[in-house]
Amino acid sequence: MTNSSTPRRRFLKIGSAALAMIPVVAFSDRAIAATNAAMRGALKYQDKPLAEKSCSTCLQFVPGAAAKGPGGCKIMPGDTEISPTGYCTAWVKKA
Ligand code: SF4
Repeated sequence: MTNSSTPRRRFLKIGSAALAMIPVVAFSDRAIAATNAAMRGALKYQDKPLAEKSCSTCLQFVPGAAAKGPGGCKIMPGDTEISPTGYCTAWVKKA
Protein backbone atom coordinates (compact mmCIF):
# COMPACT_ATOMS: atom_id res chain seq x y z
CA MET A 1 0.00 0.00 0.00
CA THR A 2 1.69 3.14 -1.20
CA ASN A 3 -1.31 5.40 -1.44
CA SER A 4 -0.02 8.76 -0.16
CA SER A 5 -3.44 10.30 0.08
CA THR A 6 -4.72 8.24 2.99
CA PRO A 7 -6.00 10.43 5.81
CA ARG A 8 -3.29 9.17 8.19
CA ARG A 9 -0.47 10.01 5.78
CA ARG A 10 -1.94 13.43 5.04
CA PHE A 11 -2.22 14.08 8.78
CA LEU A 12 1.42 13.10 9.31
CA LYS A 13 2.53 15.28 6.37
CA ILE A 14 0.65 18.31 7.67
CA GLY A 15 1.84 17.66 11.23
CA SER A 16 5.46 17.44 10.09
CA ALA A 17 5.14 20.67 8.13
CA ALA A 18 3.59 22.41 11.14
CA LEU A 19 6.42 21.23 13.41
CA ALA A 20 9.01 22.39 10.89
CA MET A 21 7.45 25.89 10.92
CA ILE A 22 7.87 26.45 14.69
CA PRO A 23 11.58 27.36 14.64
CA VAL A 24 11.04 29.57 11.57
CA VAL A 25 8.31 31.55 13.30
CA ALA A 26 10.37 31.86 16.48
CA PHE A 27 13.38 32.99 14.46
CA SER A 28 11.25 35.44 12.51
CA ASP A 29 10.10 37.09 15.75
CA ARG A 30 13.72 37.65 16.71
CA ALA A 31 14.62 38.84 13.23
CA ILE A 32 11.97 41.56 13.41
CA ALA A 33 13.85 43.27 16.23
CA ALA A 34 16.72 45.11 14.58
CA THR A 35 19.00 48.03 15.19
CA ASN A 36 20.69 50.43 12.79
CA ALA A 37 24.16 50.49 14.29
CA ALA A 38 25.60 52.90 11.72
CA MET A 39 22.96 55.57 12.33
CA ARG A 40 23.03 55.01 16.09
CA GLY A 41 26.74 55.61 16.10
CA ALA A 42 26.60 58.63 13.81
CA LEU A 43 23.90 60.28 15.93
CA LYS A 44 25.35 59.17 19.28
CA TYR A 45 22.18 57.30 20.27
CA GLN A 46 21.93 56.28 23.92
CA ASP A 47 19.27 54.30 25.81
CA LYS A 48 18.79 57.01 28.41
CA PRO A 49 17.41 60.56 28.09
CA LEU A 50 19.42 63.76 28.13
CA ALA A 51 17.67 65.89 30.76
CA GLU A 52 14.10 66.39 29.45
CA LYS A 53 15.03 65.25 25.95
CA SER A 54 13.97 61.68 25.12
CA CYS A 55 12.75 59.79 22.07
CA SER A 56 9.16 59.82 23.37
CA THR A 57 9.18 63.64 23.16
CA CYS A 58 10.96 63.73 19.80
CA LEU A 59 9.25 64.55 16.51
CA GLN A 60 11.01 61.60 14.82
CA PHE A 61 9.86 58.88 17.22
CA VAL A 62 7.47 56.17 15.96
CA PRO A 63 5.85 54.46 18.96
CA GLY A 64 5.88 50.66 19.09
CA ALA A 65 2.96 48.34 19.84
CA ALA A 66 3.32 48.83 23.60
CA ALA A 67 3.27 52.37 24.98
CA LYS A 68 6.46 51.92 27.01
CA GLY A 69 8.05 49.40 24.64
CA PRO A 70 10.59 50.01 21.91
CA GLY A 71 9.57 51.77 18.73
CA GLY A 72 11.17 53.17 15.62
CA CYS A 73 12.65 56.42 14.42
CA LYS A 74 11.96 58.15 11.10
CA ILE A 75 15.64 58.85 10.54
CA MET A 76 16.96 55.42 11.60
CA PRO A 77 15.59 53.10 8.92
CA GLY A 78 15.11 49.49 9.92
CA ASP A 79 15.67 50.12 13.62
CA THR A 80 12.83 48.71 15.70
CA GLU A 81 14.55 48.94 19.08
CA ILE A 82 14.45 52.66 19.78
CA SER A 83 13.70 53.17 23.45
CA PRO A 84 11.07 55.80 24.35
CA THR A 85 13.56 56.90 27.02
CA GLY A 86 16.47 57.03 24.57
CA TYR A 87 18.09 60.08 23.03
CA CYS A 88 20.34 61.08 20.13
CA THR A 89 21.83 64.30 18.79
CA ALA A 90 19.06 64.61 16.15
CA TRP A 91 16.39 65.17 18.83
CA VAL A 92 13.70 67.66 17.78
CA LYS A 93 10.90 68.64 20.15
CA LYS A 94 7.53 67.16 19.23
CA ALA A 95 4.92 69.91 18.59
S1 SF4 B 1 15.86 61.36 16.24
FE1 SF4 B 1 17.06 60.58 17.97
S2 SF4 B 1 15.96 61.37 19.77
FE2 SF4 B 1 14.56 61.50 18.03
S3 SF4 B 1 13.39 59.55 18.08
FE3 SF4 B 1 15.13 59.28 16.70
S4 SF4 B 1 16.69 58.36 18.02
FE4 SF4 B 1 15.20 59.29 19.37
